Amino acid sequence: MEQKEERSEKSERSSESSGSYPAKCSKCNKECTVPFKPDPQKKVYCRECYAEIRKNKPKRF
Ligand SMILES: [Zn+2]
Repeated sequence: MEQKEERSEKSERSSESSGSYPAKCSKCNKECTVPFKPDPQKKVYCRECYAEIRKNKPKRF
C-alpha cells in the first residue's frame, strides 16, 4: 500500500491591503493610506498622485 504524504498547505495569505498607514497626500492634501510607513522627511502621495508622478518621472536623470 502506498502511503501518501500529507502535504500541509501553508496558508500564507498575507492580507494585501492597499495601505495600513494613515497619511496625507502632499499634492492634493487628500487623506490616504500608504502601504509603507510614511517618512516625515519625505513627501507622501496618495495612490493616484503617486501613479501620476511616477508616470511623469523621467527615466533618465
Ligand atoms: Zn494625491
